[in-house]
Amino acid sequence: MTNTNDQNQPSDGELLREAIRLALDNAAAGHPPFGALVVRDGQVIATGVNTAEQVSDPTAHAEIEAVRAACRELNTLDLSGAIVVSSCEPCAMCHTVCAVAGITRIIYAAPKEFVPDLGGTPRPDLVEMQAVLRGLAGDSIQHIATPGADEPFTRFVETIG
Ligand SMILES: [Zn+2]
Repeated sequence: MTNTNDQNQPSDGELLREAIRLALDNAAAGHPPFGALVVRDGQVIATGVNTAEQVSDPTAHAEIEAVRAACRELNTLDLSGAIVVSSCEPCAMCHTVCAVAGITRIIYAAPKEFVPDLGGTPRPDLVEMQAVLRGLAGDSIQHIATPGADEPFTRFVETIG
């Protein structure tokens, strides 16, 4: 017997499109083109976008903003059983925060190769840290090719150009 809840649960593709929509909206407002959701049992607990430049906080990436908001919403530090759905491949910092919060799985739409030069200083050390974390994470982080995954970047470049 199928329960109604399962039928109503959004698919990975639907959740990824929602993360892309958040990233697009942020890009259209001239902010970095990244968005993320925290989802548990098919319910979106919280969302986040990159606000780093607005609040002068290098840790204010979309995934971390979503984790912070989810923890506040549930009044907990433990998001076990939840997934993070990101518009883009998480950096080493975001991946680590997801692990600290007990996030069970991370899925993302755009691989980091989609990210254009956004004007930051290249940081090969961070790329290396990200690769090490990926090696440790196994199947708990997954790229799911999603139509429109590149659109937030295009929108951002148009908006700031
Ligand atoms: Zn990040």
